[in-house]
Amino acid sequence: MSCEGPDCEKALERLYLFIDHELDNASCDEIQAHIDGCQECLTEFDLEVLVKTLVSRSCSEVAPQPLRDRVLLSIRSVQIEIQQDR
Ligand SMILES: [Zn+2]
Repeated sequence: MSCEGPDCEKALERLYLFIDHELDNASCDEIQAHIDGCQECLTEFDLEVLVKTLVSRSCSEVAPQPLRDRVLLSIRSVQIEIQQDR
């Protein structure tokens, strides 16, 4: 399954707003519905939520960029390993 459709692009674009709760409920439902049916976007969504959770736990307000990069990098390398196993 690839994630190159316009729906995915749109969903991922709004994903970040969704996570930050900056979208109205209608838009949230729309994205939630897409994520429910799209494994690629679900994975991306999980990554973002995970990073946000880790970052918010480790410091108070703004995450230091190096930490965020490190977390993202390690998650992505795990993800690549998983993909290569298929
Ligand atoms: Zn998608």
